[in-house]
Amino acid sequence: MFLNNDYTLLTGILLFVLRYCLFAGIAFFVFYVWKKKEYIHLKLNQKQPVIRQIKSELLYSATTLLIYSVSVLLLIYWYQMGYTTIYSKIETYGYGYFFLSILMMVVLHDAYFYWSHKLMHQLPFLFRFHKIHHFSHNPNPWSAFSFHPIEAIISLGIIPIIIFIIPVHPYALFVFSTFMTLYNVYIHLGYKLNFLFLGSLTQNTAENHDLHHRVSKYNYGLYFSFWDRIMKTYK
Ligand SMILES: [Zn+2]
Ligand SMILES: [Zn+2]
Repeated sequence: MFLNNDYTLLTGILLFVLRYCLFAGIAFFVFYVWKKKEYIHLKLNQKQPVIRQIKSELLYSATTLLIYSVSVLLLIYWYQMGYTTIYSKIETYGYGYFFLSILMMVVLHDAYFYWSHKLMHQLPFLFRFHKIHHFSHNPNPWSAFSFHPIEAIISLGIIPIIIFIIPVHPYALFVFSTFMTLYNVYIHLGYKLNFLFLGSLTQNTAENHDLHHRVSKYNYGLYFSFWDRIMKTYK
């Protein structure tokens, strides 16, 4: 299994970087280069992001992805020591559970993201780090992982919660992290495009998150909006 691979760090870096460059690169190319004029009426901020902002986003994103890649080594160490609930054969719990575990990870991650994000806004000590992400006044696909290294580490806090609590297969972790990357790129698209699979009442959209980058006391969620609705931070 790939969790025992000697080239794990390199594989991790390649996986995180390639996946991010693929999703953010395609989204940026389509909406900010190729179809820019065609979709301009859907652009939430009529100005284009300045080069200085994009350069900073690429630099901070590279650091975030390096931290994520290195964290895979810790995950493997915990796995090898037998501390985690990671299992190696899908048949152990069946395919039904395999898909359910992905859904559970998304729901857990959404709660973790909402509360850690809200806390980063409310505690001045933490906002010092989170304000790097808010340098992106004009969100675009390259803003998705533009975090201060401390925020990158905080964002990883969901991983131990998952792998110490719910039984997960490495492929399910892969699907979850791919979906997380894709959704993160989507909410930073900067366009009024609602890719809804649940409906606008429950799902967080690019428009909601764009508003968060402008008025930071609303819309702290990632995939869903129900935490924002419950806590009255939805706008
Ligand atoms: Zn953001
Ligand atoms: Zn924020």
